Amino acid sequence: MRLFVTRRLPQRVMERARDMGADLHDSDEVLDADALRAALRDYDAILCTIGDRFDADLFATDVRTKLLANFGVGYNHIDVEAARAAGVTVTNTPGVLTDATADLAMTLMLMVLRRAGEGERMVRAGDWSGWTPTQMLGRGVTGRTLGIVGMGRIGQAMAARAHHGFGMEIVYYNRSAKDLPFPARRLDTVEAVAAGSDVVALHVPAGPETRHIFGAHAIASMRPEGVLVNTARGDVLDETALIAALQEGRIGGAGLDVYENEPTVPNALRALENVVLLPHLGSATLEVREAMGMMALDNVAAHVEGRDLPNPV
Ligand code: NAP
Repeated sequence: MRLFVTRRLPQRVMERARDMGADLHDSDEVLDADALRAALRDYDAILCTIGDRFDADLFATDVRTKLLANFGVGYNHIDVEAARAAGVTVTNTPGVLTDATADLAMTLMLMVLRRAGEGERMVRAGDWSGWTPTQMLGRGVTGRTLGIVGMGRIGQAMAARAHHGFGMEIVYYNRSAKDLPFPARRLDTVEAVAAGSDVVALHVPAGPETRHIFGAHAIASMRPEGVLVNTARGDVLDETALIAALQEGRIGGAGLDVYENEPTVPNALRALENVVLLPHLGSATLEVREAMGMMALDNVAAHVEGRDLPNPV
C-alpha cells in the first residue's frame, strides 16, 4: 500500500505516517495540479488538505488512488462526486476541531464588539496617550442576540458558549430542524437571521448549495450595528457585498478567519478599522492539528485493513 502525504503536518503525525511507510511532501508548499495528478496515478491513498485542489479533471485519467483522507472537516477543495465516479472514497476529520473553531469564532465576535484589534494596533503603533472615559468605546455582549447560519457541530458549540457563557439569545437558520440542548429559535431565512441578530456567525460547509448563502440581500438585512463573523469558508459569504456594506457604514463590523481567494485578503478589508482579520486559524492548536492528523491516518489504517472507514463523507 503506497501512501502519500501532501503537506507538512505536526511531528507526531508525520512520525506515524512515516511508520506506515508513507512518502511525505514535508513542506508548506501547496502542490500544483500536475503533482496531484501524479499522486493519484502513483499512490493507493493520499492524505491531503486545504489548498490541494482535486478538481474533476484530475480524476479523468489513470487513477490508482482509492482513498483521499482529508485533513480537515471542510472538503470543498475536492470534487467529491468526480472522486466517487473514479472509485475514490473521501474521508474527513469531523468533531476534533469543533471546540477550537467555536473558540475562534467567539474570539472574533469579542474582538469586533470590544474593538480589540483597533486597540492593539493603537498600542503597538505607540499612539496611546492614556485612559480616558470616552476612548474607544465598544459594545457589550451580554443580552445581545447571536444568529447562527448552519447549526451543526461548530454552530452549536458557538451557540452554547454564547448562551451559557455570555447570556446571549440565539436564533438560527439551518437546512434541517435541530433538537438543541439550549434555547434557540429557528428562523426561515438567512435574511430573517440577519435582521434579528446583533451578531451573525456563519457555520455552513462550502459547496454549490451554500455559495454566497450570505449574500448582498442578507447583508442588507443586517442591523446598522450588526457584526458578521465568518469562520466557515470564504465562498459562503459575498465578500464584495460585505466590503461595500462596511465601507458605507451600513453594518457595524466583521470578524473574518476565511476569505474568498485565500491567501489573498482584499486591500479594502485591510484598510477598515472595524474589521478583525485572522489567517484561517480556526483549528490551529497543536493538540487539535495532531488529533486531525491521527484521525486522517486512522481512516488510512482502516482502508488498509479492509475495515469500515470511520469518517467517510
Ligand atoms: P457540520 O456539523 O456538518 O455542520 C454544518 C451545518 O450546516 C449543519 O447543521 C447543516 O445542516 C448545515 N447546512 C449544510 N448545508 C446547508 C444549507 N444549504 N442550508 C442551510 N444549512 C445547511 O459541520 P461543522 O463541523 O460544524 O463544520 C462547518 C464548517 O466549518 C466546515 O464545513 C468547514 O468548512 C468550516 N471549518 C472551518 C475551520 C477554520 O479553520 N476556520 C475549522 C473547522 C471547520 P444539516 O444538519 O441539515 O446537515
